[in-house]
Amino acid sequence: MPFTGCPLGLPGAPCGRHLLFPPVPALADGVTLLLSPVEPEFKYVGNMHGNEVLGRELLLQLSEFLCEEYRRGNERITRLIQDTRIHIMPSMNPDGYEVAAKQGPDGNGYLTGRNNANGVDLNRNFPDLNTLMYYSREISGPNHHIPLPDNWKSQVEPETLAVIQWISSYNFVLSANLHGGAVVANYPYDKSQDQRFRSHRRTVNTPTPDDKLFQKLAKTYSYAHSWMHRGWNCGDYFADGITNGASWYSLSKGMQDFNYLYTNCFEITLELSCNKFPPEEDLERQWMANREALVAFIEEVHQGIKGMVSDENNNGIAGAVISVQGISHDITSGDMGDYFRLLLPGTYTVTASAEGYQPLTVTTTVGPAAPSLVHFQLKQEVVRKPAERKASGTRMNNKALQKKVVPRATRRGTQR
Ligand SMILES: [Zn+2]
Repeated sequence: MPFTGCPLGLPGAPCGRHLLFPPVPALADGVTLLLSPVEPEFKYVGNMHGNEVLGRELLLQLSEFLCEEYRRGNERITRLIQDTRIHIMPSMNPDGYEVAAKQGPDGNGYLTGRNNANGVDLNRNFPDLNTLMYYSREISGPNHHIPLPDNWKSQVEPETLAVIQWISSYNFVLSANLHGGAVVANYPYDKSQDQRFRSHRRTVNTPTPDDKLFQKLAKTYSYAHSWMHRGWNCGDYFADGITNGASWYSLSKGMQDFNYLYTNCFEITLELSCNKFPPEEDLERQWMANREALVAFIEEVHQGIKGMVSDENNNGIAGAVISVQGISHDITSGDMGDYFRLLLPGTYTVTASAEGYQPLTVTTTVGPAAPSLVHFQLKQEVVRKPAERKASGTRMNNKALQKKVVPRATRRGTQR
């Protein structure tokens, strides 16, 4: 089949340009569209800052590369495409890109075209779930899938709305969003917990419960990249070419924190070039520096444990909670009962639970290569308890928790 993007009927950007994100398996000859229920979803998002254009070019090149190598019978790429649903959105901010592209690589101001047509920075535009998560932790509330504020739709831009609807409609497991202005792989959290650090522009490492895993994911990219791992780039030093977001500079309402707190998806932010708008003659060198890293990072979706959560009649249970002892961040099963839990090699105690069923706990060992297949078959609860109602005092008051945080606008803070 020819390479054709499908708009999927989602709302466009303010100027009417559609955001395109075709899943790659639909593009290649002979690939079955009957999806394996334990085939993970992966995504790349480029150009959410319209003037950071290298990611956009790399993702277009990557799409062509995957299709060509598949047709040539490249074993590694064929396996990757057959085992993974790969979604690629080359540009999340086509309007900003148009503004930046008019100036071109020479006349491009450092911030010209960063924002969308309404002048909004899309990586400061997602609902702030970090604050709600900290409050939820205090009251022993959910540690994942933090509920959105009631009025969130009226507070986000069309591009952000489209992306939230998109990432809510697939059970994404792993993701990266591509930026420029530095060279480093940045992992959550982006927002520091302590307001004092944010307001004084001091930085503090703000790890997620999956910190070691995120560091490994970031290193996978930086060490497969030709020079990111060396650390010294663009006048900054990052050990191993990676950094916790908040320990670099804290930002609020970013996309990667939102992915982690609202969905099952683990997202990192890749800063790929000192020059946000590199000239055309630099693209070949940049592609060669990033090609292996872009492929190796997709392969990272195949680790940890995965499987089905089903009832005694083998019907999949959607929304079952998968908890790993010692990691206070659960994930949930998808519509068909399929689940994916990225984990580093080790031995884990894992519990699957769903309303109306008896929880089931297993101990499993994860190796360094392929993910371990762990299926959970849950028995119905023998005695159905009356539905428990949460005390009204424990409901999170989203509005009261929303704090206005002024985005940083310093030159240092205008990459991700
Ligand atoms: Zn950026």
